[in-house]
Amino acid sequence: MKKSVLIIGSGIGGLSTALRLLSKGYDVKVYEKEKMIGGKTNQLVHPPFTFDLTASILMNREVYEEVFHDANLDYKDFIEFIKVDPTYRSFYPDGTFYDFTRDLVSLIKTLESISTEDAIGYMKFLSEVYERYIIANDHFLHQSFENAMDFFKPSSLINASKTKAFSTSHQLISEYIKDEKLQEFLSYQSLYVGISPYEGPSIYTLVPVISQLYGLWHLKGGMYSFIKALEKAIYSFGGVIETNFSVNEIIISNGKAIGIKSTKNETIFADIIISNADFPYTMDTLLKSDTHKGKYKTSKLVDLKYTCSTFIIYLGLKKKYPQLSVHNLYLNVDFKKNIDSAFTGHLPTNPSLYIYCPTRVDNSMIASDGECISIVARVPNLFFRNIAWNEKTIKFMRNNILSALKNISGLEDIEEDIIYENYLTPQNLKDSFNAYGGAAFGLSPTLTQTNYFRPHFMSSYVKNLYFVGSSVHPGPGVSIVLLSSKLVVQEILRNDS
Ligand SMILES: Cc1cc2nc3c(=O)[nH]c(=O)nc-3n(C[C@H](O)[C@H](O)[C@H](O)COP(=O)(O)OP(=O)(O)OC[C@H]3O[C@@H](n4cnc5c(N)ncnc54)[C@H](O)[C@@H]3O)c2cc1C
Repeated sequence: MKKSVLIIGSGIGGLSTALRLLSKGYDVKVYEKEKMIGGKTNQLVHPPFTFDLTASILMNREVYEEVFHDANLDYKDFIEFIKVDPTYRSFYPDGTFYDFTRDLVSLIKTLESISTEDAIGYMKFLSEVYERYIIANDHFLHQSFENAMDFFKPSSLINASKTKAFSTSHQLISEYIKDEKLQEFLSYQSLYVGISPYEGPSIYTLVPVISQLYGLWHLKGGMYSFIKALEKAIYSFGGVIETNFSVNEIIISNGKAIGIKSTKNETIFADIIISNADFPYTMDTLLKSDTHKGKYKTSKLVDLKYTCSTFIIYLGLKKKYPQLSVHNLYLNVDFKKNIDSAFTGHLPTNPSLYIYCPTRVDNSMIASDGECISIVARVPNLFFRNIAWNEKTIKFMRNNILSALKNISGLEDIEEDIIYENYLTPQNLKDSFNAYGGAAFGLSPTLTQTNYFRPHFMSSYVKNLYFVGSSVHPGPGVSIVLLSSKLVVQEILRNDS
């Protein structure tokens, strides 16, 4: 008989795990607290504008294809990739900007316009980090590390040392690159996992390096089209997704997970329970007894390290802005001070920004002659209790962001073209998706919270209970969560064989 699986949460992790298990013959049901599926990878629609709520940068395209391949489906029947080139346009307060193209000839021209020393440094930096990436990919990202010996065996420890993760991202970057603007361009991207480039391990320099070497992509319709594609594929296998269903408890009997209870007291039973809800939230709220939590007891959760959060403004504009590319950075004055503020409990006064303008390449996200842009700034998570996300705070952030934006040549009058405006705060991430402490990327992927030291896929204390998502191994980001789904499914299949 088919084994039944119940998944709490319809984020990337929940949906991709559902599809993989359905294709292996499991009977799968997904329960989501929100009205819309997708979790943080969500969509904001306000005709004629369509915005991706959070994730927008698509790296490692083959990992997206692989989910369909693993389910014996052809990804081309579900999603359409659009090449993004330049991968980035980075703007600076002095009015300069650089395009980072996929094409080596124009890239080298950009770099040489900075200095030949930095052009050589950039190439050496790519090669150094590429080597580390190959090691990380071969030995860490695709390992489940359920077993201590998988990590502590000599070959793993030798490979870990080869990734030379002990310096910070910024230290490694400045070893190769002298120009401050170029340093900031690379450092900012290490922030995509929610960790400071001045404190986090240098392994996260692989973010800008993968983008440069393998390119970035856009999905037609935006990142949310991947969620819609997973939903369609799940239904094609007879899977069930129920929305507006908030789980209150994972039911445990004799050390075994046997079902879930909703906030309205409905109970549903299954052979296997998987929580895609943020791991620390699952420990804090969905498991009711400390005996089932191991080292992640509620009182211990505050001792863990969490990523920073984000504040986002969504703007629907009435005219086109060809000055912008799809992915843009505005690297502001006092770069370090303003980045540090997100990790020390302060709001940035001169925020550096990531500006996403998908309508540069995708008309399906706009039904008018305007533009949709989302502007993201790093801010403290909710563990810093000194900041309340009220109207005053939102106004402060909004005004600082808009005055930074207006420094970009051609965007001076942007405020006059706004016909729709909305915001996403750390509090919204917590309230809508149960992101623990409003941390945008979950548990921080520091050295002491990575690989074997990050929460595992399988509970050691409760049989038949599994976890998938940003706060478990290997870490945050859509493509990395997709790897987490692949690994948890491998674990389930192994335990069932
Ligand atoms: C601002 C921002 C920008 C980002 N940009 C990028 C990017 O450009 N590229 C990239 O690759 N990644 C990006 N990311 C990261 C990426 O969005 C996440 O890593 C990914 O979406 C997380 O997926 P998940 O499955 O782990 O969890 P989630 O998306 O958090 O899904 C968990 C789901 O569980 C549901 N849930 C929680 N509690 C319950 C309950 N009690 N009952 C029922 N359901 C429940 C939630 O509502 C949610 O739907 C970004 C993240 C943020 C916040």
